Amino acid sequence: MAETEVCPAQADVVIVGGGPAGLSAALNLGRARASVVLLDAGRPRNAATLRSHGFLTRDGLPPLELRKLARAELAAYPNVRILDRCVAGALLPAPGADGLRFITAVQGRRPGTPPAVASRSVLVATGLRETLPAIPSLRAFYGMTVFSCAACDAWELQDRPLALIGETPDLADRARLIARWTDRLTVFTNGADVVSTVEEAELAASGIIVERRRIDDLEGVKGAVSAVRLVDGTRIEIEGGFVRPHWDPALDFLGGIDAERDPEGHLVVDGSGRTSVAGLYAAGDAAAPGPQQLIVAAGQGARAAAVLVHDLVGVRTAH
Ligand SMILES: Cc1cc2nc3c(=O)[nH]c(=O)nc-3n(C[C@H](O)[C@H](O)[C@H](O)COP(=O)(O)OP(=O)(O)OC[C@H]3O[C@@H](n4cnc5c(N)ncnc54)[C@H](O)[C@@H]3O)c2cc1C
Repeated sequence: MAETEVCPAQADVVIVGGGPAGLSAALNLGRARASVVLLDAGRPRNAATLRSHGFLTRDGLPPLELRKLARAELAAYPNVRILDRCVAGALLPAPGADGLRFITAVQGRRPGTPPAVASRSVLVATGLRETLPAIPSLRAFYGMTVFSCAACDAWELQDRPLALIGETPDLADRARLIARWTDRLTVFTNGADVVSTVEEAELAASGIIVERRRIDDLEGVKGAVSAVRLVDGTRIEIEGGFVRPHWDPALDFLGGIDAERDPEGHLVVDGSGRTSVAGLYAAGDAAAPGPQQLIVAAGQGARAAAVLVHDLVGVRTAH
């Protein structure tokens, strides 16, 4: 949308989040002649990395490039308005006149930004926030030679000595997965009691070492990690690794809506992206857990868009 254009304060659909899930939904809703307002705070989860992998026809593309290509395509649809650097501050139920079920409060300073948008439906595509273990230099390597998604980035690290760092009870499972790509894997619990002795023995049988001492820091230069340094000064040499962040769906703005969540805080959706609240949909990493990948998020956005259009017109068939 041009800076001077005024965004409508009413739409069929408000999409919160402009990652692959939200952008893919916007494209498909736009093509279905829905009026759409998409709000995006502009903080892509994968911004830390230089290349994203596994997206058919776009393997190895810089993350921001994928968003740029999607924006260029959306420019052909005047019924889709994108409000960049705008945050959904709150989502509230609307009184229901004209089928408008939600009001999204908008925080943003660009000219023409309305303070709120009323809509018939809302699609939540806000992704996840990540908290990494408290290791001083970890951020400097994250997205460069230390990653969180094996399916996305393990190919480039295969057959190297790798670390898996984490403080969550799924660590042994993740180690088994990463061992597909290397037979030189050390699991670092950073002092957390998250790998049982039974699991440790099972991992050892596959040649995976469990290191329970606390980590002092990572060593390396210019994003290339070279060692994990423990608090007692021991250095364990590595050439890459994975970390298990804590994930927290970015859903604070939903305070006024009582939608079902799973124990980890994701929005619970049916197979088509419907939440427990009529008219409220979710797609991508913010929805109940599964593979956290760009093409999966984009596919979920497309699917939610199709179902949303069916629901708007009362079509009950699935296709
Ligand atoms: C380091 C790293 C590397 C990765 N590499 C790959 C890879 O190579 N291949 C791959 O397939 N996947 C990769 N991923 C995973 C991938 O980034 C995610 O699965 C994908 O981005 C999820 O898409 P999404 O649309 O659900 O959310 P996101 O891409 O996170 O987008 C959500 C958007 O919503 C915005 N937002 C949040 N809250 C609000 C709000 N209240 N109002 C307005 N906007 C809001 C955010 O700013 C953001 O722009 C990687 C992830 C990380 C962390």
